[in-house]
Amino acid sequence: MNILVINCGSSSLKYQLIDMKNENVLAKGLVERIGIEGSQIKHETIGKEEVKIQEAMKDHKRALELVLNSLTDKNYGAIASLDEIQAVGHRVVHGGESFADSVVIDDQVMKAINDNVEVAPLHNPPNIMGIEACSELMKGVPQVAVFDTAFHQTMPEKNYIYALPYEYYQKYKIRRYGFHGTSHKFITEEAAKLLNKPVDQVNLITCHLGNGSSITSVVNGKSYDTTMGFTPLEGLVMGTRTGDLDPAIIPFIMDKENMNPNDMNTLLNKKSGVLGISGVSSDFRDLEDAASSEHRAQLALDIFEAKVRKYIGAYYGTMDHVDGIIFTAGVGENSISMRESIIAGLKNLGLKIDSERNNVRGKAQLISTDDSSCPIFVIPTNEELMIAKETLELTK
Ligand code: ADP
Repeated sequence: MNILVINCGSSSLKYQLIDMKNENVLAKGLVERIGIEGSQIKHETIGKEEVKIQEAMKDHKRALELVLNSLTDKNYGAIASLDEIQAVGHRVVHGGESFADSVVIDDQVMKAINDNVEVAPLHNPPNIMGIEACSELMKGVPQVAVFDTAFHQTMPEKNYIYALPYEYYQKYKIRRYGFHGTSHKFITEEAAKLLNKPVDQVNLITCHLGNGSSITSVVNGKSYDTTMGFTPLEGLVMGTRTGDLDPAIIPFIMDKENMNPNDMNTLLNKKSGVLGISGVSSDFRDLEDAASSEHRAQLALDIFEAKVRKYIGAYYGTMDHVDGIIFTAGVGENSISMRESIIAGLKNLGLKIDSERNNVRGKAQLISTDDSSCPIFVIPTNEELMIAKETLELTK
């Protein structure tokens, strides 16, 4: 059974075609600059050369049409016809309180995703465009929505209600939702396998450290608390996002700099984080390269690291026991030095990293010493595979 996984952004579309018999990726690609001059597809069928297709794409429907053509192309395609795609799985950012699990998409589900546009004005509209394009171009093929927020719907009320007047939760659904749920769920399942425990019995601290970053405390296989909040802005310092901030700073800057809410949103989401601190880059590789000569690049890394450590410490201290701490995503999977320094500062918890075991990138591996108070692992995340698995489960 082949499943097409689609992840739509406002001007981009990422896709993977996965053969679920052995979970092999058959083809993958990225469409960029949809609706903007210079649109292009980078398409790769595994085992064949990557091709670049430059063609105007006025909307997501046209982009998907070209993706489907690429997948079935005689020379660089992966399948002979669209009949070989049995289902489509969509990444949908915000399921609000409506979805605690993935669902097969029907009219009612579309209405609920639309209702959640209010809490995810940047993210849900492109996801909806992707679903609509598939409905038109792949009639009769079942489609599944997999939500970034769903895994976190198990958080207890005390961990998701903000200390604002309660009526704002009732009126506007302002609460912690949490994001990266597909990734936290995937690594929870993978960690359970490595620990040889049933997934509903594992307690973990899962650290998704990438351009966007979040940490989740997982109790009995379920999300108990997470660092991202009403939006992905809260929690850790990220590539370009502030993470936690004294909220009083926001009206203060708006007043001083004569900013409107839109400007402020851009500042908080796009110009802050390690980019804002360093003035060098949002990319951790650039920061590591610049750190020896640029004080603010080193400072940005130190602040990021301190924040990660603070949350690991906070979650560790509030859980009955911890079966494992997991590092994943771009930085978590690849930055040997970042993992080393995060854990080096948590000696008081009895956590110890083994330098030799930690000398690993992008591969599942135990990286702690045998006498560490709990095992620490690197586990590569695979959100596309998780979406495909959930899609298969709901449509087979
Ligand atoms: P996204 O949130 O966009 O999915 P990723 O999970 O791909 O992000 O993470 C991207 C981040 O991972 C970038 O900041 C990049 O610098 C960082 N990264 C990738 N490889 C390395 C590496 N070898 N060392 C340090 N950082 C790395």
